[in-house]
Amino acid sequence: MKQRRLFEPEPEPTPWEVVDRADQVCAQLVFNRPLETPFDYLIPEGLQPFVKPGMRVRVPFGRGDQAIVGYCVGVGRPSGGANRLKSVLELIDQAPILSPRMLELTRWIAARYLCGWGQVLEAVVPAGVKNQAGTRRTLLVSIDPARWPGAEPVELPAKQAAAVAVLQREGRPMGIEQLARLAHCGTGPINALRQRGLLKSSYERLDQGGAEVDEPLERQPDLQLNVEQQRVLHEILQTLRGGVFRPFLLHGVTGSGKTEVYIRAIREVVEYGRQAIVLVPEISLTPQTIRRFRSRFDSVAVLHSHQTDAERHRHWQQIASGQVQVVVGARSAVFAPTPHLGLIVIDEEHEHSFKQDTVPRYHAREVALERARSERVPLILGSATPTLESWQRAQQGDFTLLSLQRRAAGLRLPPVHLVDTREDPQFRGGAAIGRALRSAMQQALSAGGQVILFLNLRGFCPVLWCQACGAPVKCPHCDVSLTWHREQNEARCHSCEYTTEPPRHCPACGKPGVRYLGTGTQRLESEVRAKFPGVSCVRMDSDSMRKPGSHDIALESFRTGQTRILLGTQMISKGLDFPNVTLVGVIDADTVLHQPDLRSGERTFQLIAQVAGRTGRGQQGGRVLVQTACPEEPPIQFAARHDYLGFVQRELRLRRQMGYPPFESLIRVILRGPDEAVVNQAAQTLGNTLRTAIDSGGLAARILGPAPAPVTRLKNLFRYHLQLAAPQLETLQTLWRTSGAPCTLPAEIELAVDVDPINLR
Ligand code: ADP
Ligand code: ZN
Repeated sequence: MKQRRLFEPEPEPTPWEVVDRADQVCAQLVFNRPLETPFDYLIPEGLQPFVKPGMRVRVPFGRGDQAIVGYCVGVGRPSGGANRLKSVLELIDQAPILSPRMLELTRWIAARYLCGWGQVLEAVVPAGVKNQAGTRRTLLVSIDPARWPGAEPVELPAKQAAAVAVLQREGRPMGIEQLARLAHCGTGPINALRQRGLLKSSYERLDQGGAEVDEPLERQPDLQLNVEQQRVLHEILQTLRGGVFRPFLLHGVTGSGKTEVYIRAIREVVEYGRQAIVLVPEISLTPQTIRRFRSRFDSVAVLHSHQTDAERHRHWQQIASGQVQVVVGARSAVFAPTPHLGLIVIDEEHEHSFKQDTVPRYHAREVALERARSERVPLILGSATPTLESWQRAQQGDFTLLSLQRRAAGLRLPPVHLVDTREDPQFRGGAAIGRALRSAMQQALSAGGQVILFLNLRGFCPVLWCQACGAPVKCPHCDVSLTWHREQNEARCHSCEYTTEPPRHCPACGKPGVRYLGTGTQRLESEVRAKFPGVSCVRMDSDSMRKPGSHDIALESFRTGQTRILLGTQMISKGLDFPNVTLVGVIDADTVLHQPDLRSGERTFQLIAQVAGRTGRGQQGGRVLVQTACPEEPPIQFAARHDYLGFVQRELRLRRQMGYPPFESLIRVILRGPDEAVVNQAAQTLGNTLRTAIDSGGLAARILGPAPAPVTRLKNLFRYHLQLAAPQLETLQTLWRTSGAPCTLPAEIELAVDVDPINLR
């Protein structure tokens, strides 16, 4: 018998043979839509050798056959069904932009977070990679003067005519996507024009832009690790050498030298010729952090959100080619295309910014876990204040707990003093800095130290309030009260950034006498300047740090001692390591405590512990003053004693009683729409459908709500939510997939499904 060679071409079908469906080659495509399953599209013969999983194609989609981009996730025979299949129109990529591994990971994300696989792919591939910024020759179309001599052209369908009109008006070649946008049509009509030969095509290189060269840094030697660090590193190295998946929770107090441990573990990984990914919160991607890694490794790529498309693309390619040893980046760096991953580190694993709050609503920790599992590498989650979710997993043995209980280099954690604001008349007079804090600041400054003041409210006055009717002055589009920003003299909504002149009359009752209450960072700044004239002070919040680079300039002037007082929001609460800071003041510890959120206690504890971590990092020591009206509240008490264990034990007990995470999983479903009654009705119907499904399936799950969301109106849309809770997340995922719940909704309702929600507003 003649053996067939592997790549021997199939015999051509003779003309009278019926072409069977089984002979056709299909691409399985997913789209940037909330769809669960891939779609089959026929691959035209000429394209068959080129289309591979991980590439993008253009295909007709939906009733109007609009040409849209699809991601190929598989190539094979049609999966069944008698309906006529549509064909691929165009192949976009020359090579796959996603590896098989990345396809698997993104499929896992779509299943876990209940969104479309294509939605995940769309979000995961950086824009610069998608449009090949800096490298690709892009297709441009223009009017063919030979075909369009005068004003009286061929009779065209309306959309094609609109596209031609835009090209005539602009008088230059344009990209297809841009033209479609300006002409308010899909890309279909434009392609139709090209096919009819009515437009001329040309190719042009996109702007290179932004290819800055990383200047080499002076190499720093490794530090001599202390005994605790050595013990922890030893455990990690054993796992690394074993080449197995294992998650570690590294609980180390602030300044205990966690980063040094990461660096040494990474060194081992690099020696094997593998790469490491280090995730840090976006606001910790400071020059200080970056310098620390770049002074210890030959090639470090930094990924952050301020990069241009071309920069991102360049880094992505360098990483994919294996040239990069260490990738340091925020949340999305978990997708960095390292060819030989050796280790993933997540620093400050408790940070909320690791959860994405748009589709796909993934948490980088969960994605990192899955990626580490599939690539069989260790994962290190580090924090001084681990989330209860991670702590509980360590208790159950899912994570290996490692701890660093002392600060490195023999330094002590700073003492934390609580100042009861109810006992100081200064506060009733409207001051934000009480007597105790003021004199502590004076002492610290006159001894040559520096001061950090923390307040998590921006603006000048966070509340505008009508004395006559008692109502807060709210944003006309949101259920959020306006904040007065004195610098621009405007009232601003911090949810939608609506701004208006500060109202003199109450919009609700029309009477004069709107009062400005409370203190935001702007007002704190002017109080500091008034109380400490001549002392240099810098404010860091999202208003003062708008310009790119301003963040670095502010921190640099603080590092060199030019600035003596640094005040600001979350931006300054973590990661900073300045030995000369001898005093940290928390202006109001209660702002978070009173939020209606199951994590308000945890957040308050974390906040105080993290802010306190900014001092006592030098030989002069340091201390912390926390102003609060609730000094007896347990999260504040535990934080003042640096007692994380005491705090988690109590908090876990409460969570267990309440059936909250980590003991139950949650899925939050938010419904949005312009008409409150319709939203409410839809939420009720959805709730009933889900309850019926729970009862008939005998599922161990419950539904909380529906109810108006805490912020009931946002950007002119009314918001209702409900929560699905169950001991097992799988129960909820199955419930949601099988209940048919989304089908009950009217078209005008937007739906957001948030698995493991963190933001409960
Ligand atoms: P963490 O990441 O836990 O906050 P870092 O790794 O930033 O801690 O270390 C805090 C400070 O202690 C840094 O200034 C670091 O250089 C220093 N440090 C860390 N380990 C050692 C060590 N073994 N000996 C001396 N100094 C150390
Ligand atoms: Zn608003």
